[in-house]
Amino acid sequence: DPRIARISSAIRVIPNFPKPGIMFQDITTLLLDTKAFKDTIDLFVERYKDKNISVVAGVEARGFIFGPPIAIAIGAKFVPMRKPNKLPGEVISEEYSLEYGTDKMEMHVGAVEPGERALVIDDLIATGGTLCAAIKLLERVGVDVVECACVIELPELKGRERLGNKPLFVLVDGA
Ligand code: IMP
Repeated sequence: DPRIARISSAIRVIPNFPKPGIMFQDITTLLLDTKAFKDTIDLFVERYKDKNISVVAGVEARGFIFGPPIAIAIGAKFVPMRKPNKLPGEVISEEYSLEYGTDKMEMHVGAVEPGERALVIDDLIATGGTLCAAIKLLERVGVDVVECACVIELPELKGRERLGNKPLFVLVDGA
C-alpha cells in the first residue's frame, strides 16, 4: 500500500529518550502530517469496518489518539484502558510486568458486556506486555478480543510471540 511509506517517514525517531540506548518512536510528528494521519486512521477503518466490532479499547496514552476516530468510523464505542487511579468509577485491574517492576491497567466496570467483540489499539508494541494486560482485562469480563492493532511494531522484541495466537495488525516496523 503506497500510504505506508508516507506514514513510516512521518514517524520521528529520537535517540536516547527516555533513557540512553532507547530509540524512541515519536508519533507526534505523524499527527502533524494531515495526510499521513488520515491515512493511518483510514487503513485501520478499512480493516475493521466490516468485522462486527462493538468496542475499540485504547491503551493510555497514545491509544487514546488513534482509537476514538477509528471507533467513530466503524460505529463502535471507545473504552479507555488507563493507568492506575485515573478512572473515577468502579474498576477492574490487571497487573503486568515492566523491564523494572510492575504496572497496572484499569478499566471501568460496566463499560463492556460479555460477548462483545473488541479491537485493542495502541501506538506501538515492544515486548507485548501492555497489550497482553489489555487482552486479559477484556477477556476476564467475557469480551472476545478479535485483534490487536498498533501503528508501529518493534519486531526484535518479539511482542507478537507474547500475544500467542491473538492476531496482531501493524502498519510499520520501528527503525
Ligand atoms: P510493551 O508493553 O513492551 O509492548 O511496550 C509498549 C508500550 O510502551 C506502549 O504503550 C507504547 O506506547 C510504549 N512504548 C514503548 N516504546 C515506545 C516508543 O519507542 N515510542 C512510543 N511508545 C513506546
